[in-house]
Amino acid sequence: FLARQDRWESSARTYPRNLPIAIAEGTGSFVRDVDGNVFIDFLTGAGVLSLGHNHPELVEVVARQSSVLVHGLDFPTPAKDAFVEAQLSMLPPALRDQMKIHFCGPTGANAVEAAIKLAKIVTGRGEIVSFQGGFHGSTHAAMSVTGLVSPKQPVANQVPGVHFFPYSSCARCPLGLDPHSCETNCVTLLERALRDPNGGIPLPAAVILELVQGEGGVVPARREFVRRVRELTRALDVLLIVDEVQTGCGRTGTWFAFEQYDIEPDIVVASKALSGIGLPVALILYHRRLDQWKPGAHIGTFRGNQLAFAAGVEAIRIIRRDDVLANVRARGEQIADRLEPLRNQPWTHDVRGLGLMWGVELADPVTGAPAGALGRAVQAHALRRGLILELGGRHDAVVRMLPPLNVTPDVVDTACDILLDAYDTALR
Ligand code: PMP
Repeated sequence: FLARQDRWESSARTYPRNLPIAIAEGTGSFVRDVDGNVFIDFLTGAGVLSLGHNHPELVEVVARQSSVLVHGLDFPTPAKDAFVEAQLSMLPPALRDQMKIHFCGPTGANAVEAAIKLAKIVTGRGEIVSFQGGFHGSTHAAMSVTGLVSPKQPVANQVPGVHFFPYSSCARCPLGLDPHSCETNCVTLLERALRDPNGGIPLPAAVILELVQGEGGVVPARREFVRRVRELTRALDVLLIVDEVQTGCGRTGTWFAFEQYDIEPDIVVASKALSGIGLPVALILYHRRLDQWKPGAHIGTFRGNQLAFAAGVEAIRIIRRDDVLANVRARGEQIADRLEPLRNQPWTHDVRGLGLMWGVELADPVTGAPAGALGRAVQAHALRRGLILELGGRHDAVVRMLPPLNVTPDVVDTACDILLDAYDTALR
């Protein structure tokens, strides 16, 4: 399979490079490859399969919906109606009647495009502020606001008017400061730039932000940082776009991560886990006052996947019924406890996470340089022992855990045993 893929498929494919398996089937937190090997899947379709592979209740709902209506463009349908109602019901009460939904082409990147376009339309401004280390997708504007350099380096003429500022990455402070004595100076740079009419940058349409940088290496933003970004954007009438493509739908222990930061964004971007089972759907939620699209302003053929809508409603029902968000918080604490011994390892630079997004950042104990080769070795040893893990961050030096949100304590324990063991073996 892999040799055939090598011959026919584009060299842009990513996951099978470090994880050379061909997947035959998935069930819950597990996948089986074509040779019959079973793996714990802590990649979960890049954070998509919130209820694991092929959750039986979701499969049933999808099967039922597929005999009724599969594709609905952007016509109203009963499945869409129920999906919208379910989504709005998950918002904090104060926002429930305030927000509207715009369905986007079925990827997170397309929803990021929509958010940026809407911000430009509403404000009449053209600049966007983004953060170093962030990831927002592979389409042109989404790539241009992405702060990770490697995906964009070979592409000339990025979308203009994007300005990058330091993120609150305290484990590797972008200003080289001691995080213990720091007053979140990183955000001060942004404040100065936006408030200075001469030496700064033009007033932007929006600031786009991940509350936990995912691809950037599982970096939760500091609360103070987020609070000041919100205050500043509000004071200057700049829109705040929160990209919850990865952090959303319960991943961090609340439906959206912004709830834990006590802020109200102007625009929220969501995609990956909206259907719970890996059917494509993407959307932005935004304040009613921003609904200034003209008809046809951001369209696309695949904005009416009825299977995704039906699954998404059922996923929310299950998440409520089984109190899956409590499981996210409890399993997150379990992972934190189990990874504690890694903190004393000389090659561990940092262990951090929120909910069920966890990362172990590796660095050379002498030079402090990110240890990507060690990350890849840990990933390879874990795979051999039956655990699929993803890497992230600059130089792949962060080993990431993204389990399904309904993962059981036993599976978490086994996965952590494997990770600790793989780390040990990789260092030998
Ligand atoms: N934003 C964030 C925060 C993401 O993590 C991703 C995907 N990893 C995207 C946007 C892009 O989503 P998609 O791959 O569906 O275009």
